[in-house]
This record gives sequence, structure tokens and C-alpha cells, in this order.
Amino acid sequence: MAWIRGWRRWPSRRTPPEDPSEGTDPTATAREWMVREQIENRGVRDPEVLAAMRRVPRHLFVDSAWAYDDRALPLPRGQTISQPFVVALMTQAARPPRGWHGARVLEIGTGSGYQAAVLAELGAAVVSVERDPELSAQAARNLAAAGYDGVVTVLGDGTQGWPAAAPYDAILVTAAGPSIPAPLREQLNPAGGRMVIPIGDREGQWLTLVERHGDEWRERSLEPVVFVPLIGTHGYGERRSLDD
Ligand code: SAH
Repeated sequence: MAWIRGWRRWPSRRTPPEDPSEGTDPTATAREWMVREQIENRGVRDPEVLAAMRRVPRHLFVDSAWAYDDRALPLPRGQTISQPFVVALMTQAARPPRGWHGARVLEIGTGSGYQAAVLAELGAAVVSVERDPELSAQAARNLAAAGYDGVVTVLGDGTQGWPAAAPYDAILVTAAGPSIPAPLREQLNPAGGRMVIPIGDREGQWLTLVERHGDEWRERSLEPVVFVPLIGTHGYGERRSLDD
């Protein structure tokens, strides 16, 4: 899915600090570096989000030596996992009005399961919908291996949402749609539910924040991004051309 254009700030170039408390786990050191240089330094300051991203073992979700690098990475089946900064930005923007702990959260586009793990680490009750059976099964294995047993993975067309567990305090859509799917609007909690979704054409989109207050939905564009397409009834069609 995503890389992001229009950086606000590039990370400063400096060598990683030597901190004996970081211990001997090299992945913990890599995460610390990722959070400081790629995320905090570019303006994502929500302490809960930073702490969660320090804890989730991203290398268990993406089979790559570059798991902690500042880039989107390929997943099987032509999909991509967002770069860490985009995950942090979306998570920060989607924060439910009463916080993450115990919040009901819907993710569309399970992919590797990494974003779902970050939400679970924040204390949310997470349902994540994926349309590709192979990716969904692998994500369930990744989540179990990393210890996130509580995440509910669902196979289906996420543009329909998942009415069984609605309403949701937050909805994160990690694939790009032509417009906001009506079922997702309806499944947002009327008491300030927040949805973050990339909206645009197949070449580029705006990360969009939707906030629901009763029967009013307020929309705001956050950042220009590029995600893989959301394919389904309320998304793009199956065809791979740019104008379908
Ligand atoms: N959030 C994921 C990355 C998602 S990549 C992670 O953290 O790894 C986008 C995913 O959206 C792909 O896996 C793609 O198959 C899925 N997708 C696309 N359209 C969908 C739809 N209608 N419903 C559910 N998943 C969809």
C-alpha cells in the first residue's frame, strides 16, 4: 500500500544512540530507531502510538531484512505493507474519542496483520477484514505467532464493513477507494466515531479523516498518499486499468 508523498520533515542523519537499557535484542534497537527517526521526528507525537510501535515485532509480519526500514514493502499477491510512518499517522488520526483501550475497531485490508497488531497493542478489540484468502490465512498465523490472539480476522469484501460487531469507534481502511463506502459510514459510532481512509484515483489519494456526530459526517483531508486499490462492491472493480 503505501508510501507517502510530501514529507514534512526528513529525519536527521545521525548514528543510533547507544543505550544499554535497550538490551541485546537487535529488533528492539531497530524499532527504537524506527520510532525516533521515522515517526516521532516527522511529527507523530501520540505517546500511546509510539509505545505500541516500539512493541509490535514488525519483522514477524513482513518476511524481509528491511522490516524496519523507512519504506513500504511487498506482501504476497501483489500487495504492500505501508511504511511505518504511514501506519503511525493513520493510527494517530483514528484515535477514538474515549481512547483506544476497549475501543471497537474495524480494519479493512488485513494484509500481513501488522496494522491490526498495532491496534491490538493499543488495547482495542479489533476485527480485520481481508478479501484475499491466502493473505487472510497468513495474517492469522502472523498474529498468533506474535501473540495477538484476540484479533478477529474475517475473509470478505470489506467495503461492506462487518455489521455483526458494529458500531465501531474507529475504522481504518488500508487500501484506497474512489469514495467513502456507505456501509462503513453507517457502521461508525454516531458518538464521535472516526474513520481514516485513502480516497482518490488509482494513482494517488488523500488520506481522509471522517468523524461522525449523530447523522453528520465531517470530512477532512490529511496527507497525499499512494495505496493499493480497495476492490469490492463499494470500491473499485476487479479490472486493473486506471479508469475502471
Ligand atoms: N494493513 C495491511 C496492509 C494492507 S495492503 C498490513 O498492515 O499489512 C491492502 C490490503 O487490502 C490487501 O491485502 C488487499 O488484498 C486488501 N483489500 C483490497 N480490497 C479489499 C476489500 N474490499 N476488502 C478487504 N480487503 C481488501
